[in-house]
Amino acid sequence: MPELQIELIPVLRDNYVYLIFDPATQACAAVDPAVAPPVLAALDRLGWRLTHILNTHHHHDHVGGNLALKAATGCTIVGYGPDAARIPGLDVAVKDGGTVTVGSATAQVIEVSGHTLGHIAYWFADHAALFCGDTLFSLGCGRLFEGNPAMMWASLGRLRDLPPETRIYCAHEYTEANARFALTLDPDNAALRARTREVCDLRSRDLPTLPSTIGVERATNPFLRADVPELQRAVGAPTGDAVAAFAEIRHRKDVF
Ligand code: ZN
Ligand code: FE
Repeated sequence: MPELQIELIPVLRDNYVYLIFDPATQACAAVDPAVAPPVLAALDRLGWRLTHILNTHHHHDHVGGNLALKAATGCTIVGYGPDAARIPGLDVAVKDGGTVTVGSATAQVIEVSGHTLGHIAYWFADHAALFCGDTLFSLGCGRLFEGNPAMMWASLGRLRDLPPETRIYCAHEYTEANARFALTLDPDNAALRARTREVCDLRSRDLPTLPSTIGVERATNPFLRADVPELQRAVGAPTGDAVAAFAEIRHRKDVF
């Protein structure tokens, strides 16, 4: 299977737009284009023609470039069907369990509500790549704007269960701040300390900390570790109550 080429485009303050290019067919998808001009510039530089937009959720910093890109390229916009009224230019409605085809590559659609209702992730299983929007960040997770802790914990669990080698492409560069917070809860976690050193080094050179992998996040991300007794103790949640621990970790991060 020919490898997909994945290009990371930093936009706005801390967003990433990803371009997914399939050399076999020349198909190219933009994931969560917050704005159009830097995406068009990248396409131009790389000599790729945009065929698809994949939206993970309706927030403006993820769909803001939809209409301009569609006008410029005629691309097809894919997103969560029931959110059609909130996703500009939606052409192809998908939902949990569905699939999306970009050239010769296929992504499975995984609903991961919590940050918003109807947030989806795109998992290219054959290419070990996950585009998870604002649900899972490296060492963090999205704020709960529309969902509740139980819902988000279940959503993150679905992503945590993916193969450990899966590369995760998150929509924001929040990793360094997330690491500072994670260390307050989990200071003795050697994997977290090692990842933090790596992250600080990358950021000091203005390099992205993404993609991370599911395996790394499983070992280091406190929001994926709310069912670990040490984390539950660290936030004073009853032992065995992962949702209570997750809710407390999320609350502490909100006010960190
Ligand atoms: Zn968002
Ligand atoms: Fe966002």
